[in-house]
Amino acid sequence: MRCWPRLGLTRRPPGVEACHRERKRVVIVGAGFAGIAAARALRHADVDVVLIDRRNHHIFQPLLYQVATAILSPADIAAPIRQLEVKHRNLSVLLAEVTGVDIASRTIEAASPGLGGRTIPYDYLVVSTGMRPSYFGHDEFARHAPGLKSLSDAETIRAKILGAFELAATTEDEDERARQMTFVLVGAGPSGVELAASLAHMMNVTLRGNFRRIDPAKAGIVLLDAGKRVLPTYAESLSRRVTRRLTKLGVKVLTGVKVETVDAEGVVAGGSRIPSATVLWTAGVAASPIPKMLGTKTDRAGRALVDPFLKVVDAPGVFVVGDAASVMQDEHPVPGVAQAAIQEGRYVGRLIAKELKGRKVKRPFRYFDKGNMAVVGKNYAVLERGWLRTSGFLTWLVWAFVHILALPQLQNRLRVQRQWLWSYFTGQRSSRLIPESRRIG
Ligand SMILES: Cc1cc2nc3c(=O)[nH]c(=O)nc-3n(C[C@H](O)[C@H](O)[C@H](O)COP(=O)(O)OP(=O)(O)OC[C@H]3O[C@@H](n4cnc5c(N)ncnc54)[C@H](O)[C@@H]3O)c2cc1C
Repeated sequence: MRCWPRLGLTRRPPGVEACHRERKRVVIVGAGFAGIAAARALRHADVDVVLIDRRNHHIFQPLLYQVATAILSPADIAAPIRQLEVKHRNLSVLLAEVTGVDIASRTIEAASPGLGGRTIPYDYLVVSTGMRPSYFGHDEFARHAPGLKSLSDAETIRAKILGAFELAATTEDEDERARQMTFVLVGAGPSGVELAASLAHMMNVTLRGNFRRIDPAKAGIVLLDAGKRVLPTYAESLSRRVTRRLTKLGVKVLTGVKVETVDAEGVVAGGSRIPSATVLWTAGVAASPIPKMLGTKTDRAGRALVDPFLKVVDAPGVFVVGDAASVMQDEHPVPGVAQAAIQEGRYVGRLIAKELKGRKVKRPFRYFDKGNMAVVGKNYAVLERGWLRTSGFLTWLVWAFVHILALPQLQNRLRVQRQWLWSYFTGQRSSRLIPESRRIG
């Protein structure tokens, strides 16, 4: 007798028997911190979970800047999403890009490379598609100033940085050499600060003595921000300490300066041109287009406004979690950080598991802030947790310990530890490759 398999991704055709009792289906879009946390929370639930991502790997984004500055390799901070299928018997992983959502028919449209699109029905939909770089309406800047969001971005940046030193050592033109040896970073949030400090260490230590014709330590790093201070989400006292630290490392911090143009020659900021062959963008983020497709209100950055249970109003069974959601708590927005994404994903997974058992969840989502950290080069990090503000070497050790533990799998933890120890004691960086496929200059 013909029967319909449980994990088939299309609805059972009329007249065809199910092979067994049909279970409800939760579709999770995005296997970042939030999506994976939701899938984990549903691991023992009596439901089929379909986890869809356009990439086959989960990225530990907090260490992307270390791939961009050649400390780590892409595989050190990424893990195949498919591995979750081994541990979760109710989970199927699908490599596809979600291109549409139809709330009325409770379906999504997903396209896999080379296979075209398909319609996938859901009973519950969890949207956790994160954010992407935003150029504040100037998408033309993207060509000259890559953002840092994916492994590919990190490799592009690494190739640009290493390529600039190579070209500086090759050219006979003094102005061009100066342009190649000037690095401009737009955006002084945690990513910009971490990237600038790591780049400074690379110039002063790793590349020292590597070039006969140039002195890498003489390269200039300019960190620009339109806001009043670096790390605007941290306390002012920490911002001041970080600015001092960056200055000591040789980074020129320019705050209150708006970038007007980014082109092949460099940037124009605050009315002056800064010639630079390497402009990097860590200034802004906007949500992926999926939240807008849910027909709900979104904030200025395109994040979906959700109710206290992270549900989308007027869209039954639909939740938005992680960076893609705009969640308010005590009249303040919940920050777009990994720990918030994990807590939201876990909460929604548990909520769905309870609803499936016929129980109603009465307690709304509450974010528990474990503290925020940013690292500023070797031996120095800052931490803010409630009233507690610390900085220095011990904070840096805590930062290193927390990040090792948070990496997705044991293999990543071992690899990153090994690379960090090597870098710490030798000053060297093991991932200084410019792939032939990357354009430099
Ligand atoms: C450079 C950088 C440094 C950071 N540093 C820190 C830090 O030190 N500490 C901290 O707490 N936070 C940090 N963050 C923020 C943190 O990484 C995010 O808050 C967190 O990743 C959000 O998790 P998420 O699951 O919402 O989204 P993401 O982790 O971004 O995951 C979204 C997933 O959705 C997928 N996706 C998107 N659109 C589609 C689609 N249409 N179809 C299919 N799949 C799709 C993507 O491929 C991705 O896998 C950093 C972020 C960046 C970019």
